[in-house]
Amino acid sequence: LAVKGVQALSPYQPGKPIDELARELGLNPAEIVKLASNENPLGPSDKAMAAARKALEEMCLYPDGNGFDLKQALAARFGVAMNQITLGNGSNDTLEVIARCFASEQSEVVFSQYAFAVYPIVTQAIGAKGVSVPAKDWGHDLDAMAEAVTERTRLVFVANPNNPTGTVHTAAAIEAFLDKIPANVIVVLDEAYCEYLVGDEYPDGVALLNRYPNLIVCRTFSKAWGLAALRVGYSISSPAIADILNRVRQPFNVDTVALAAATAVLEDEAYLVKAREVNAAGLRQLAEGFERMALPYIPSFGNFIAVEVGDAAQAIYQALLARGVIVRPVAGYGMPQHLRVSVGLPDENERFLAALAEALTSAG
Ligand code: PMP
Repeated sequence: LAVKGVQALSPYQPGKPIDELARELGLNPAEIVKLASNENPLGPSDKAMAAARKALEEMCLYPDGNGFDLKQALAARFGVAMNQITLGNGSNDTLEVIARCFASEQSEVVFSQYAFAVYPIVTQAIGAKGVSVPAKDWGHDLDAMAEAVTERTRLVFVANPNNPTGTVHTAAAIEAFLDKIPANVIVVLDEAYCEYLVGDEYPDGVALLNRYPNLIVCRTFSKAWGLAALRVGYSISSPAIADILNRVRQPFNVDTVALAAATAVLEDEAYLVKAREVNAAGLRQLAEGFERMALPYIPSFGNFIAVEVGDAAQAIYQALLARGVIVRPVAGYGMPQHLRVSVGLPDENERFLAALAEALTSAG
């Protein structure tokens, strides 16, 4: 019944829910360690929680369809105009709206091998042709991606840092890439993990918007800001592009609680600082653990890390589940020898590493 592109879709595979595994193992959900969905292990910001609770009192009213307060806070934070912002029900929503606005059955959409799973999904759903460009050292081969652009290309997705590989490109590399892309092709710079990047060598997509009117920067409150359940993302672009996206997005795509929590968390700089610290320490802890076990891993700039466990990856994933630890297999990304683990709190990382050491002997 469905159109061709939709019939060919493989659905997005989310991480196994904690409650489901707890039921299967007969454990208390508190005993499960879930490091599968790149969530913030800190738990929510107190400021976001207080704002969300208060906003619940308005649950019988429609949300502010224009998200005025949140857009105002984002505009002030990033030094852009409110009419450059488009809000999304998570950045996935915005990625989909972008595909619907700028590509069609006649178009090609370019992305990298091992890039975020939603790019091929939104491409196929509109019947456009996805062009997956072979990766280089697990990351985007930006030169090859620029060369893959044809006169049919309408859209290019670049994740920086990328999920699930954690690879990143410098500002210089991204600018050199943008210089090569024709002005009639939209480039989406997906910066879902940008808050974890420290250092001037990494791009701030928003600072590039003046020079590249065909650029859309996508960001999210799901990761460093700790609001994954509430589904809030946004894009920043030229006003002309934002105007198009805002015509097509659903009128109330971000709900009142989400708007309030996101606006409040932007005031909680201490939460972001803590999230960065915990993440950097956790990445080191995991990398050291992998080195002790002599497991190769892809150095990561996100809040997760892909570790190479070999042909038994699926069995090791299952053995970890049996020990109450949920990680993410990435065979669906074409990485059947890797598992992706999100950075947790120190004791969660330790439990994962201990379970992995056992799983390697039992399953490996
Ligand atoms: N982009 C990338 C690269 C991601 O890894 C994710 C989350 N998995 C998203 C976008 C979407 O996040 P959300 O819809 O929660 O904003």
